[in-house]
Amino acid sequence: MIYLDNNATTQVAPEVFEAMQPFLTSLYGNPSSAHKFGRDMRDAVEDARGQVAGLLGAKNASEIVFTSCGSESDNWAIGGFLEQNPSRRHIITTRVEHEAVRKLCEHLAEIGCQVTWFDVDRAGAMDLDDLRKALRRDTGIVSIMLANNETGVLFPIKEIGRVIREHSDAIFHVDGVQAVGKIPINLSEWPVDLFSISGHKFHAPKGVGALYVRDGVTLPPFIIGGGQEQGRRAGTEAVPNIVALGRASQLAKEFDNHDQIRALRDRLEQGIIAAIPDAKINGSTDKKQRLPNTANIAIENFLGTEIVKKLDAVGICVSTGSACNSDSLEPSAVLNAMNIPKCAGVGSVRFSHGRYNTAAEIDKTLRIIPEVIENLRDKRCATIG
Ligand code: PLP
Repeated sequence: MIYLDNNATTQVAPEVFEAMQPFLTSLYGNPSSAHKFGRDMRDAVEDARGQVAGLLGAKNASEIVFTSCGSESDNWAIGGFLEQNPSRRHIITTRVEHEAVRKLCEHLAEIGCQVTWFDVDRAGAMDLDDLRKALRRDTGIVSIMLANNETGVLFPIKEIGRVIREHSDAIFHVDGVQAVGKIPINLSEWPVDLFSISGHKFHAPKGVGALYVRDGVTLPPFIIGGGQEQGRRAGTEAVPNIVALGRASQLAKEFDNHDQIRALRDRLEQGIIAAIPDAKINGSTDKKQRLPNTANIAIENFLGTEIVKKLDAVGICVSTGSACNSDSLEPSAVLNAMNIPKCAGVGSVRFSHGRYNTAAEIDKTLRIIPEVIENLRDKRCATIG
């Protein structure tokens, strides 16, 4: 298998598995217990909190609250803030957010919040002047992602945060799920209040995430019950997963081979563009404006879903966009918001690289793709307009 779907999820790193394993077997104590066995679990949870804080550049480890996934972190950040501030029911977000933000905001609009939705241009970028004009006295929260999961396009979070701070007292939530482990993050210096992450996107297992809550920002508890997570999220801690998230954070901080991932991505991207005349990059052509690992390529008038199936048949895992929409024959909401024509949108395929990919895998993929496209030529959907 050649796995080029690392934005959907990643392999658990062997070092992460090794760190969490004892907590699935012999180290089963409850971190809330008063005895030493329990206190050791509490120490493990607190060590992991420090490791996550280190990766995110948080000022204090207490700014990190463990959650079950990125979606939970997103829901808690936005929903929690609005629950606590009912008079500030104006939300600003973009149309290219992950469903965990987009669908939540659609739901909040249905129950009485006002949402200002930002479109982006063909490169995936938003207009900061429009943002400034959209900020109001009752704007409670602005939620904008750091890196788009489908295209890898990066938002200028520092500039966005500065505009928000200068022109309003809205809270700034950033969905950082796709960026963590791929680019440096320094929340103590960034004008960001809430920041969501998810472990399975950077070599921890599924089922663990975190929300960074800047000191001084308060949210109501996401789960009401015991006093875990400083009373902010009740429920006995998922110690093995938390330990894994900590170790994955430490590995991500130490990882220094992003250039290799970038080189593999560039080799694949350039190879496809050279071999297939109808192929175009979705998102900024300036590679500095995109994550180093992501290539989203439109092959006009072909069906991305068919390309994905043919590649799957020869053991190459890629996707048409967000894993949550992989069966859709419509262009994704993200590509629609970028105004990509439908004939290109439905022919778009996302290749997302990771630290375990090799040059040999990329070369093999590059040999196979032109054949796959040639074999699909009679299935071209020329009527898509
Ligand atoms: N936000 C972004 C940008 C994502 O890409 C994803 C998952 O793909 C999520 C949030 C949701 O994360 P999780 O799968 O941990 O709920």
